[in-house]
Amino acid sequence: VAETRDAEVAVVGSGPGGAVTACILAEAGGDVLVLEEGAEWTQTSALPFSLREMEQKYRHGGPVATLGRARVAYAEGCCVGGGSEVNSGLHHRTPPEVLDAWRRAYAIDAFDEAALGPHFDAIERDLGIAPRPGPPPAAALALREGARRLGWTSVDVPRAVGWDAAAPGGEGRRRSMTETYLPRLRAAGGRLLADTRVLRLERRAGRWLLAAVHAPAGAPPRPLTVRTVVVAAGAVQTPALLRRSGIRANVGDALRLHPMLRVAARFPAVVNPPGAGVAAEQVKELAPRVSLGCSVSTPPYLAVALADHVPDLRGLERDAPRTAIYYAMTGGGRGTVRTFAPWRDPLVRYRLDAADLVEAADALTALCRVLLAAGATALYPAVAGIGPLACECDLARIPRPLPAGRASVVTLHLFASCPMGEDRRVAAVDSFGRVHGVDGLRVADASLLGGPPGVNPQGTIMAIVRRNAIAGPRP
Ligand SMILES: Cc1cc2nc3c(=O)[nH]c(=O)nc-3n(C[C@H](O)[C@H](O)[C@H](O)COP(=O)(O)OP(=O)(O)OC[C@H]3O[C@@H](n4cnc5c(N)ncnc54)[C@H](O)[C@@H]3O)c2cc1C
Repeated sequence: VAETRDAEVAVVGSGPGGAVTACILAEAGGDVLVLEEGAEWTQTSALPFSLREMEQKYRHGGPVATLGRARVAYAEGCCVGGGSEVNSGLHHRTPPEVLDAWRRAYAIDAFDEAALGPHFDAIERDLGIAPRPGPPPAAALALREGARRLGWTSVDVPRAVGWDAAAPGGEGRRRSMTETYLPRLRAAGGRLLADTRVLRLERRAGRWLLAAVHAPAGAPPRPLTVRTVVVAAGAVQTPALLRRSGIRANVGDALRLHPMLRVAARFPAVVNPPGAGVAAEQVKELAPRVSLGCSVSTPPYLAVALADHVPDLRGLERDAPRTAIYYAMTGGGRGTVRTFAPWRDPLVRYRLDAADLVEAADALTALCRVLLAAGATALYPAVAGIGPLACECDLARIPRPLPAGRASVVTLHLFASCPMGEDRRVAAVDSFGRVHGVDGLRVADASLLGGPPGVNPQGTIMAIVRRNAIAGPRP
């Protein structure tokens, strides 16, 4: 097929990092081929946040656990468009103090709020970033009210959603990569081959040879040869692919994520009616270290959030319309990504130390305090053996530090596994994503971040890769 012709530039992965990079290079006249392991679906192929969507668009159909004393369950998109196809599209600019800390830690050139500003402007325009028109869902209003009663600040976070198509009060349609940058890539002559997992990269006679497997055919007709490879396979799979290819300097050594602790909160009134949309309210009183927010509360999400409270499950199912899930998000811990032949999947280790677990306990307590102030009558934190909590006096039952083995930590935000900067002692790639000491090889995804941004990361990832594709040296 035409897609398997050689190209000048191959982009591995079509999530926000890969899609933006591929689109910009193709629109600048480049001969670009995107290789994506997952299948191509549309935004209407499954109900948002349903089990069917998980089966279609997530790696391994849902959450996977890291190894470590505190297990962290994480989930990654695996489809054309990557995480953007399944996420809530909450959008933030990176806090300037976070950018400054990354610049200092890794010696990143030309990297601050002013340098990223035009790139944020462009992606916000392209994704149509906007707050939900009309009143927020009830679960968001409850969080807002709890924050107000404590005198804390809370914000309605704008999202990458097309609201025009929304019924009044309902959800719009995600402005994911299949709705935005990937059609533009194709219009500019770029090609995309779905169902194709890149196994290894090999340098031969000044070009890159890509060994890949095309799932429907079982194998590609022949290995692809390209001049430049841009690896954009996400914060776990990018270091895995580089390490499988023998590229290991500072690769997969500094994985960071946003650990999230969830609480299912039962209210006297309905907060989670069937069809309730995404509640985008976040309490920013303790930011950027800690954010408190609303999670998706559809039945599969409720079942997972309540797994630590099995005796109460039946009652909670009945009470589902009066129960919503909330989260406390921190930035603690540090991990690694390693590969071991012949395993297909990388080994992800993550360690939360005592200070991280104290911070997590404080974040969880702050969330419970807001929810009680909002009028919740029973709180079920995702910590085995704790709950239900019904009053301020119960908050002393949250152990500090949280016991590593009993807390169900989850995350949807992973990054920093190939940090960028000029300091070769710690950075895997240079200030524009070129792998140090390796010709024709770049990284363009969440791996580039210098640590936890403290805000939902998609905007930061897209702004950085757009900057690198436009302001960096041409591939
Ligand atoms: C359920 C959920 C909700 C989220 N909500 C938000 C939110 O509201 N706001 C926000 O900012 N962020 C959110 N995120 C996080 C956000 O989606 C990710 O940070 C973002 O998608 C990361 O982009 P990326 O390009 O680095 O990687 P990804 O989006 O993970 O894309 C990588 C792509 O590479 C492909 N790939 C991997 N390995 C290979 C290989 N060897 N060969 C070929 N292809 C490969 C994968 O299949 C995948 O499609 C959420 C994530 C999830 C899962």
